[in-house]
Amino acid sequence: VAAAQANFMRVVVPEDSGTGVELLCVVKAVLKKIKRRVLVGDKVLVGSIDWVDRRGMIENVFQRSSQILDPPMANVDHFLVLFSLDQPRLEPFSLTRFLVEAESTGIPVTLALNKAELVDEETLVGWRTRLRSWGYEPLFCSVNSKSGLDTLAFILRNQTTVIVGPSGVGKSSLINALRSNHGAYDAAGGDNWFDPIMGSKWLEEQRVGEVSTRSGRGKHTTRHVSLLPLSGGGYLADTPGFNQPSLMKVTKQSLAQTFPEIRNMLIRNEPVKCSFNDCLHLGEPGCIVKSDWERYPYYFQLLDEIRIREEFQLRTF
Ligand code: GDP
Ligand code: ZN
Repeated sequence: VAAAQANFMRVVVPEDSGTGVELLCVVKAVLKKIKRRVLVGDKVLVGSIDWVDRRGMIENVFQRSSQILDPPMANVDHFLVLFSLDQPRLEPFSLTRFLVEAESTGIPVTLALNKAELVDEETLVGWRTRLRSWGYEPLFCSVNSKSGLDTLAFILRNQTTVIVGPSGVGKSSLINALRSNHGAYDAAGGDNWFDPIMGSKWLEEQRVGEVSTRSGRGKHTTRHVSLLPLSGGGYLADTPGFNQPSLMKVTKQSLAQTFPEIRNMLIRNEPVKCSFNDCLHLGEPGCIVKSDWERYPYYFQLLDEIRIREEFQLRTF
């Protein structure tokens, strides 16, 4: 399932050559009755196919290898957290929030830093050293000067990847640089790709959804997720409107596991463990997690934010 909107799903039937044929599908009533929701990324069984009008009906959903909530998607293999080195400047706490949100799914995370051509070599080396101490090996790229794009394409090949990051870092630009130009998609890319089934109507609605999300008006604006085929095989999910990590799935207890620094300290000390099973690593007696690492204050701050949210939820429900 490459995209979902209202009662329609766009399903790609893969082909050995090119990106495959697209079918516009409805969901069989029985699936709705048993509340089996079809998500973007789902592998589905399609019946009643009309190859002329390219329509069909989703009759069943295959078992998922993963499922994420924000954005709602199935079978995601990989997260690509994209930030820029400048314009906007790389903000470590904001980056940490995105990394924590992605790590909380348990799905592998790659960190890429765009607009590399805007900064000097010394700055790149500085960030590399710093981010290695966080437990990440950053991939520098520049859509403008086309550097690092081959490496990225290689990393993303044959996987379903969700790209996340704040607005303005170059997510759309990167998607356009990496997406496949054949099959059902128009080579122009961007907002004006031709949709053989929905025509311009689909695109109009999609654009309206994005605009109202950006202006932040109302809570019920539509946020669309769609999978775009990559030229090297695999898919990249564009997630307009999901550029604010909610951390809703992260709990006080699970937060530590989203920091590679803590994970590594715990592994290094095995088989010795913290004295308390539910240790939050805040200097409890017998805690084996030290506090001498750069992001410790961020861990502390996020823990506090989650504590306040959890207490609020307890009082409300
Ligand atoms: P998004 O909000 O993350 O989707 O970001 P966009 O793809 O819309 O890009 C935001 C701005 O950054 C646009 O003006 C792009 O032209 C620009 N941009 C994208 N990649 C690069 C890059 O590698 N270098 C520079 N200097 N600008 C870039
Ligand atoms: Zn501890």
